[in-house]
Order: sequence, then C-alpha cells, then structure tokens
Amino acid sequence: MSARRKAINPRSLGLATRAIHGSHVAPYQGPVTTPIAQTSTYRFQSSDDAVRYAAGDPGVYVYTRYHNPTVRELEERLALIMGCEKTLVFASGMAAITSAIFSLVRDGDEIVSTTALYGGTYRFFRDSLPNHGVGVRFVDHEGVPEIGRMITRKTRIVYFETPTNPTLAVIDIRKLVAAVRNAGRRAGAKPVIMLDNTFATTLNQDPFSLGVDAVVESGTKYLGGHSDLMAGVVAGSETFIAGVHGVLKHLGGCADPLAAFLLLRSLKTFDLRVERQNRNALELATFLEGMRGVKRVIYPGLRSHPDHRIAKKQMAGFGGMVTIEVAGGVRSAVRVCDALRIAVNAMSLGGVETLVSIPVYSSHINMKPAELKRHGVTPGMIRISTGIEHVDDLKKDFREAIGRR
Ligand SMILES: *Cc1c(COP(=O)(O)O)cnc(C)c1O
Repeated sequence: MSARRKAINPRSLGLATRAIHGSHVAPYQGPVTTPIAQTSTYRFQSSDDAVRYAAGDPGVYVYTRYHNPTVRELEERLALIMGCEKTLVFASGMAAITSAIFSLVRDGDEIVSTTALYGGTYRFFRDSLPNHGVGVRFVDHEGVPEIGRMITRKTRIVYFETPTNPTLAVIDIRKLVAAVRNAGRRAGAKPVIMLDNTFATTLNQDPFSLGVDAVVESGTKYLGGHSDLMAGVVAGSETFIAGVHGVLKHLGGCADPLAAFLLLRSLKTFDLRVERQNRNALELATFLEGMRGVKRVIYPGLRSHPDHRIAKKQMAGFGGMVTIEVAGGVRSAVRVCDALRIAVNAMSLGGVETLVSIPVYSSHINMKPAELKRHGVTPGMIRISTGIEHVDDLKKDFREAIGRR
C-alpha cells in the first residue's frame, strides 16, 4: 500500500483549518487551541468500553501509552502536512527511530545504511542491533549509486539521511529508490526504504513523492523549533504504522500530552519559521563564502556545492543548516564560537535561535583522523543551524567573531 496521501494544502495545515477542525478534542464552539488531555487513563462509560477496545474500536481511549486525544490530534495534523496515511509521535527522535526499526526487523535480517548518520542512530546500528541478530551493512554516500549491489534476500530496510550531518551531502532520493527497487526484485526482497528527514523537513523535501516508504524525524528540531521540547515522528502507510504502534506499546516511548500540545503550537509557525531559516541560511552562506578566514562554506543552495544540482531537483528549499570551515583548525573554530554574541554555542538544531557547534567536539568527537577523513569532517568546521533573527544581525555577529579568530 502506498504511504502517500494527497495533502490538501500542506503549508497551511499547521494552523487550525476546517480540514481537521473538530476531530478529537477541539469541537466546534470549543477552544481555538487544542486542549491538553493531561491524563494517564480514561473513564469508561461502562465496562462495555473495555470490550469495544479489545475488539479494536479506535474511538475508545484506555491508557495514554496506547492513545491520547492531544497526541492523536497532532498525529493527524502531521499526516496531512507530511502527505502520508498515518503518523505516530514519540517521546524523542530516537524513540521513533528505534521503534520503527524494531517493528520491521527479525533475527537474521539485514539493514543497508549510509555511514553519514545521526550519532545516536549510528551507535544503535553498530552497538545494539547486532545483539538482536540484525546485521547492518554501511555504504558511504559516494557509494549510493551502487547501493543495489549491497541488497540481498535478507535486506529488510534501506536507511539513509539527506542532507547529511555535518557535511550536508545530498543524496539523489529518486535514484536511490530506483536502485533499491531493481536490486530488490533481482534478490527477491522488498526492503522498506526509510529516510530520516530531520534536516530538511517535509517543507523542504517531500520524501513520499520521491518514492520513499517510511519517514522518521526528530520533532525536537525543526518541527518543535523552539529548543523547548523532545519528540519524534514516524510516518508512512497505515499498515506500517500499525506495526510501529505495537512496538510503541511494548517499548513505551509514547509522547507526553504536554509535549504534543507544544508541538501543535509549533506547527502553527512551521512554514513561517522554515521559510525564514531557509532565507537566512542562503544569505548568511553567500555572505560568508569568500570572507577572509573562511576556507569553505558548505550549503546545498550555493552553486559551489558539489550536489547543488541534485538539491535543486529534489528540494523545495535548501534548509537552515550551513557548515563552514575556518582557517586555523579547531583552535580558530573554538575562538569563533566563543566570540559569537547572537548565535548560541550549543548542540542541537532547528530552533528559532541560531546555534553553532564544532563537529570534532560534538557529533564526531573521539574519532581518529582516518575516520574523520572518511566522514569528510575537518577540525576547523563549524556547523550553523540558522535561526529566525534579522539576517543583518547574524552577518555582523559572524563577521566580528571570525575577525577575532
Ligand atoms: C536529533 C536528531 C535525531 C534524534 O532525535 P532526538 O529527538 O534527539 O532523540 C535523529 N536524527 C537526526 C538527524 C537528528 O538531528
């Protein structure tokens, strides 16, 4: 079954529209915002409700780890925005990713994955999955055109991220999908193609329209957008999501109703924020390119980016992430980050405030030079998550900080 469902007008669906108004906890004549159903359990009208629940009636609420009206409202809204049949919201991005993976793999299965992954996912693949009899075969993103060669009868999932962290390489999604489908047919396998869309978000990159089966995303980043909540999302077909929901109930990574409320609030400005972040990132990247003391600016929206052509083809916007390399190595990178007065020196990304981090001190800490080289990471790199500040303030901040390098 296709995961895709035609969205009505995805850019406005973060707002209270008639499309889903009145669905669960926001009846007509009710509040404009979605109330928080801050409860762990639900009063049955009579014991018949328990029987109806056991028989599969989706209208009966039993326990918040299974279902919650505020969380459900959020999940329906996200399904409309992301253009898919169903979504599930989790306590964090990692809860979403691990539950989605566990819903699909069995002892003896294999995953084919790109190497340039979020650190948590990479370590889960490297350190945890083998204990469950699941092997992971890694491919560098340059090797993606030949990804078909890695597909075997045992391949259950093909997993990837684009743009990658922190070097912002862009993988041609359509090409990857075609290669996997062809190889799968030859090998007698039908791998689920799963993408972590955290960096781009659905507003900049619509994976389902490019043939991807399942999307995972950290709601902590652009979806939340205010650095004040933790959440994760899994999106795809109804059948797939039903399987993930079973795992959610076992592993218990359910979203808290308050976090769901905050995320619903965030969705109202999702389009505004991402549009501004895209614009600020492009302008800041252009400004920094060629500046004295800056050796390299990596941004998929720049013509100098090696994958610019692919990015233009598959992305509606180039995102808020910019990576620069300053002359003088990690000492200079540290001096720049410590001298910034508007941008905040902190991990994470996607918030309204600009954040900077040094990959060799964060995502790629303790890696040997050879490993760093393979990941394309250099000591002088600074990763910038562009916020919604006035771009002139950001330019001034970076110009001054880089001047003190
Ligand atoms: C942050 C992040 C995650 C993990 O999300 P959490 O909400 O921190 O658990 C996964 N993938 C990417 C690309 C991320 O940036």
